[in-house]
Amino acid sequence: MFPVYYSFNEYVLERFGEKLYKLSLNAGFTCPNRDGTKGKGGCIFCSTGGSGDFSEAPCEDIDVQIENAKKQVRSKFSGEHFIAYFQAFTNTYAPVERLREIFCKAVNNPCIAAVSVATRPDCLPEEVIALLSELNRIKPVFVELGLQTIHENTAQLINRCYPLSDYDRAVRLLKQEGINTVVHLILGLPGETVEMVLQSVRYVVASGADGIKLQLLHVLKGTKLEQMYRNGEFEVLSLEEYTDLLVKCVELIPNNIVIHRLTGDAPKKLLTAPLWSADKKHVLNTVNARLRSLDGR
Ligand code: SF4
Repeated sequence: MFPVYYSFNEYVLERFGEKLYKLSLNAGFTCPNRDGTKGKGGCIFCSTGGSGDFSEAPCEDIDVQIENAKKQVRSKFSGEHFIAYFQAFTNTYAPVERLREIFCKAVNNPCIAAVSVATRPDCLPEEVIALLSELNRIKPVFVELGLQTIHENTAQLINRCYPLSDYDRAVRLLKQEGINTVVHLILGLPGETVEMVLQSVRYVVASGADGIKLQLLHVLKGTKLEQMYRNGEFEVLSLEEYTDLLVKCVELIPNNIVIHRLTGDAPKKLLTAPLWSADKKHVLNTVNARLRSLDGR
């Protein structure tokens, strides 16, 4: 019997032979969609923390951040090895030598088993891909691309500020270098139908991505999305709607593609809607119960 889906935990155990915990680090970068290079104000759903609200505070020394982050997770995780997760803002948006300095520190830290770099597909010039490829030969590197949707109208609405062709190029180059490529999609974006979401999932699967992160749309305080929500311009998904949609997405993802995430976390103090998503345990129980009904597909 096939597993319902290929989870990140399962993948990590197979590849590394042990559980790993992600340490959310902050390289102190910004984003071209915030500083005016590509856009201003950022994607409409993005918090002032650059979608890295659980990250360590930015500071010069990555080794210090690693030690601080380890202390934070000690009560939850007793293992020895971790993934250095560069999550906040755009983590390849800096001169390549600066990136080398930061990522090398992480790669060379003995407790780090792998590095994960969240970025935009339009921030991967060839020299950065070459650096990631070099690091990937030392320890596994995951590159996480914030795609969110393949639909141009939605991309404009959310102020993503790069075309789909940038995603196609990034995936092609990363795959050529054998770099593990993980794609973020948001479920429940304003104006998107179920079929539009499924089209995005099919596209990502066909593009050759190694992993997918499925994320519920969170409305966070202080964002443009929050204004739209309060103006009644769209509605958020209910737990039932989200679960139904998630099941349809998972059914399209073959068992060789790792599903890194099924919901996503929002900091409770920033969450405006949907409030049901704050009860993560209940959400995961509901989702997993539905997914178990797919067993044997
Ligand atoms: S690209 Fe990422 S960091 Fe930049 S505004 Fe969009 S979500 Fe935020």
